[in-house]
Amino acid sequence: MNNMRKLLVVLLALGLQAGAQDLTHYKKIVKEISSAKYQGRGYAKGGANKAGKFLAKEYKKAGVDEVTLQPFTLDIQTFAGKMEMWADGKKLTAGVDFSMREYSPGVKGEFPVYHVDTLNFDADKMFADLAKPEYENCMVACEFWFTYKHREAFSRLQTKDGCTNAGLIYTWPAPIKFFKAYGHRVVDKPIVWVTPEAIEGVKRVKLNVDAKFLKDYECFNVISKVEGERHDSCYVFTAHYDHLGNLGKKVFYAGANDNASGTATIVTLAAYYAKHRPKYDMYFLAFSGEDANLRGSTYFVEHPTFPLERIKYLFNIDMIGDNNPTEYCEVSDTGMKAFPLFEKINGEKRHFKELHRGDLAANSDHYVFAVRNVPCIFLENEKGDAFQYYHTIFDNWEHVVTDSYEPTFRLVRDFVEQYK
Ligand SMILES: [Zn+2]
Repeated sequence: MNNMRKLLVVLLALGLQAGAQDLTHYKKIVKEISSAKYQGRGYAKGGANKAGKFLAKEYKKAGVDEVTLQPFTLDIQTFAGKMEMWADGKKLTAGVDFSMREYSPGVKGEFPVYHVDTLNFDADKMFADLAKPEYENCMVACEFWFTYKHREAFSRLQTKDGCTNAGLIYTWPAPIKFFKAYGHRVVDKPIVWVTPEAIEGVKRVKLNVDAKFLKDYECFNVISKVEGERHDSCYVFTAHYDHLGNLGKKVFYAGANDNASGTATIVTLAAYYAKHRPKYDMYFLAFSGEDANLRGSTYFVEHPTFPLERIKYLFNIDMIGDNNPTEYCEVSDTGMKAFPLFEKINGEKRHFKELHRGDLAANSDHYVFAVRNVPCIFLENEKGDAFQYYHTIFDNWEHVVTDSYEPTFRLVRDFVEQYK
């Protein structure tokens, strides 16, 4: 081989390696922050903050110009102590057969179960039944969506003065889910999620559940910057790194897809732009408190570290650890004029089979920017093989799918290259 050809081979190999390196880097971060060390990146065991510190180091390693931590506080109910339940003497498994509603208090005791007759439902009859001595201090069991449909009656069952029941059992098909979004307050009575199989025909349940309400708990957003040639405008990449934390002492929600995947994606984008100096400043915002109802991003827009008006475009990447050939997106009103460019790029380069645009919703951090007129897009890869594990203990490293990482990365990178 002559020297020119040698050089060409070396350059090609480097080029291939650079592409492969991103996926390797991505996988390494997803695996790390969804490991047991971070206990589901929640609050009771400090996992979210531990992940935030790890990310700050990763951004520095990636070669960004600046990393700052933006502290904020939140109030949140947590379940990191005892988590035990028995149905007619049979021990149930936390995170598999049952979980807790995020605004439930802790509970200890044994209770009769009243099964709501959903086929012949009559709220007056239910309250009359519940006044009978055999149902005093009982747990009322009912299918969740049915309680939602009749929420006026069922919300009475959550309050001390509304009824004499001890609490509620909502049924939800397996795999059982766990949420955090409304955990900023606690209702009077315990509410447990249980699979229909685990509670069907059950006469008595025993519960031993610890809960701890954290008031003004301090967490932080991780803000990194790669300086561009120009500072009058910027691009912003966001992803939330918090997740649901613990359900008892042993069970934790790894959140590999939600949202170690997006978190890792924006770190690799930062590494890319640190190497390929961009025209405009680039900000990488790793938010905490998203699964606790967009708390980190809300704090950021109320206390921005640079003027929001400078944002040329913002990309919120949440749950792309999946393999649906169609990428789901939501676009803010002010971001819509650029949507044809996303479609054009995607059509030409075939990153995804197609982009499916849904209505803007308060389902992730882009929303707080969208309502402040920031041009933005939300990218999510839903309903692939990993989606079934959404908000379950099975959303872990073993189930994460990496197919959507590279197309998401390239779609965003190509957009930044072409957008004027
Ligand atoms: Zn989530």
